[in-house]
Amino acid sequence: MPAGAAAAADPSAAAEFALLHRPSFSIRKKIALSFSLCFLLIGAVALASSLILRGIEERLYFLESADLYTSHIQQARRYEKNYFLYGTDLRSALEHTRQAHGSLRGARAEVQKVLGPRTYQAMLRHLEQYRELLSRLATLPAGAGEKGAIEAELRSHGAEMVAVALRVVEAERRTVWRMLRLSKQMPIVALVVLLALILYVVHFLTRQIVAPLGRMVANARRIAEGDFSPILPARRYRDEFTDLALAMNRMIHELDRRQEMLAESQKLRAIGTLTAGVAHELNNPINNISLTAEALLEDYPSLSDEERLDMCRDLIAQSERAHGVVRNLLDFSRQREAHMEPLDLGALLRQTDKLLSNQIKLARVDHRCAIASDLPPVLGDKQQLAQVFVNLYLNALEAMGEGGELRVSAELDPSRPGLVRVTVRDSGRGIPDDVLPYVFDPFFTTKGAKGTGLGLSVSYGIVSEHRGTISVASRVGEGATFTVHLPVAELAVAAPGVQSSAQASDHPNRP
Ligand code: ADP
Repeated sequence: MPAGAAAAADPSAAAEFALLHRPSFSIRKKIALSFSLCFLLIGAVALASSLILRGIEERLYFLESADLYTSHIQQARRYEKNYFLYGTDLRSALEHTRQAHGSLRGARAEVQKVLGPRTYQAMLRHLEQYRELLSRLATLPAGAGEKGAIEAELRSHGAEMVAVALRVVEAERRTVWRMLRLSKQMPIVALVVLLALILYVVHFLTRQIVAPLGRMVANARRIAEGDFSPILPARRYRDEFTDLALAMNRMIHELDRRQEMLAESQKLRAIGTLTAGVAHELNNPINNISLTAEALLEDYPSLSDEERLDMCRDLIAQSERAHGVVRNLLDFSRQREAHMEPLDLGALLRQTDKLLSNQIKLARVDHRCAIASDLPPVLGDKQQLAQVFVNLYLNALEAMGEGGELRVSAELDPSRPGLVRVTVRDSGRGIPDDVLPYVFDPFFTTKGAKGTGLGLSVSYGIVSEHRGTISVASRVGEGATFTVHLPVAELAVAAPGVQSSAQASDHPNRP
């Protein structure tokens, strides 16, 4: 059979199949990915900062060269003007032009990078033409008519060179300032982005860990309450929690199996108690019958009529007792079809109060019954449930003897939605720990011949048939509290889930 088909047959295998057959994306990988993302962002910011600083450095070099170049051009232009005004020689002008040329060529790489090759070529052309004009001027004889034209050309090239140089220097300065501002802002922006990223990563990882943990806690809680349905996948991906869910599912399976085994062994023990109880209960009256019948047979002639009648009455009483035992036994085992109807538990409890009011009064018991005003009806058999509460009241009265407190309450259980909780609490002698596990067993009694040991086991059967639970808590000397949970009428009809949750917390020692 294919794995999927096998899984479909068994819910535990189906859960395992569903848990395992999901793409894997472990929490470890998610953490590694999140931190890599943060690291990448930090790396990108560092790289961008270093690139900006390198850009600033290059531009500062360029500005240095541009300053030097501008200063040589300005000097050359000063000497050129002196030549025209005062007739000084042009050697210094030529020298500065040569140095400007040298510094322009020396800074060629930076200038080309910053201004582009075309601007560099244009600057070089202007400078070379300027130098050529200066050289031509230096070789012209004094008073040559060409001078005027050369002067005009020199001025135009010189002015153009200075203007370009100043323009470029100014533009570059502005760029450097912009880059500096950017390098100042970048760490702040990066910090804000990093903070947002870290917050998101923390939130994401917390969600990845805390939410499944919460689900596991809820699962552990429901398992503790006896709900042994397997854990199913809640997310798209398989991760470390999948292993935990698989381990818990194995544990649930094992718990379920063991509980069944326990129930089996308890059933056997209960049958043993039942057989011993029936034998004991029947033995006494049968013994008495046979002793009385023998005596009647032997002493018949010597007995008076009155004595004979007494013995016959005794025989009838003993048969009645045996009959009572058998009737109780039948009550216990009979699968009578319950007549279920929406019931007002409050009214039923008040009826029980009335029924037993005389006994309560005689025993001088302080009795109070608190019924919640919003108590919804439960679905039940009136007669059977009345029998349960009468049993619980009678046991409580018996345990208290004279005096004491009997407290009864009925309300919706806030911790178990859809269930009504009835508690019957007494301040009697309580139940010892070694007795507590057996009180719901048939024929278990600590009252000797006065008890039948059937009251609680019959009550247990009735409550279970109502898809409810009955449990007891007690401390010796402090009294006992019996708690009955019954499903609310409309939920009992509509939701099968109520059945499982109600049955889930069955008394642990019950078959
Ligand atoms: P019976 O009352 O005939 O003994 P039950 O099944 O009603 O049978 O009760 C079984 C045993 O549980 C009792 O014998 C008694 O030991 C114990 N028990 C039940 N209710 C109480 C109670 N309210 N306080 C102390 N012990 C109790």
